[in-house]
Amino acid sequence: MRKKIVAGNWKMNKTTGEAAALAEAVKAALNGVADVEVVLCPTFTALKTVGDILAGSLIRLGAQNMHWEKEGAFTGEISPGMVKDLGCQYVILGHSERRQFFHETDQNVNRKAKAALAAGLIPIVCVGETLEQREANQTEEVVTTQVTRSLAGLDEGGFRRVVVAYEPVWAIGTGRTATPAQAQAVHALIRQVLAKVCNPGAAQAVRIQYGGSVKPANARELFSQADIDGGLIGGAALEAGSFADIVKAAL
Ligand code: PEP
Repeated sequence: MRKKIVAGNWKMNKTTGEAAALAEAVKAALNGVADVEVVLCPTFTALKTVGDILAGSLIRLGAQNMHWEKEGAFTGEISPGMVKDLGCQYVILGHSERRQFFHETDQNVNRKAKAALAAGLIPIVCVGETLEQREANQTEEVVTTQVTRSLAGLDEGGFRRVVVAYEPVWAIGTGRTATPAQAQAVHALIRQVLAKVCNPGAAQAVRIQYGGSVKPANARELFSQADIDGGLIGGAALEAGSFADIVKAAL
């Protein structure tokens, strides 16, 4: 039985003080919630502060990106060890905004996934098609390629720990959500691809989150689909009440 996982991606929002207030409010709202794994992913600058607030609670800390190298001349980058050192257990990799604005490729995501696992971090690997690709009936091909390339060459132990986030790009921050049936169809496809990349047993262990305009009003139906194991939440994670309601919809 896969434990559902709901993560809040705060993106480039919140100063340290604002992040602290949001983390405190989320912690209070989710006090006692143990049956869903909850992860908060603030900006790098707020990781330490938010990590200190979450210490001793069941809520986990995640980063939004990292480099694959351990150290060196990579100005502006953060290594897996640095992310781990700040108390992170998770790291989001290959978010569509990083693919779109920072030219992140499946090959880079694959390097990062391997480096994250080697550092003891759980990668949340994002995949998803654009509106153009969906309208050209390329969803299956695009998602299959992203999953296959991003997760190539992982050993089975690492593979089983990975979280995949299916985030149709046309649904991110647009208010337009995939219907539960549309999302479930792609999640089932992703699980088939995972079985080919590793093996069917490992594919059953991998949690696949849905992301894209998840709100308290649509979360329960999405999370009740057979292959949807929780959500990656953007906008609605910036307000403690709505994020907590989404988490509770996964119970
Ligand atoms: C995201 O960016 O991961 C996301 C799903 O954003 P939103 O919930 O705002 O669509």
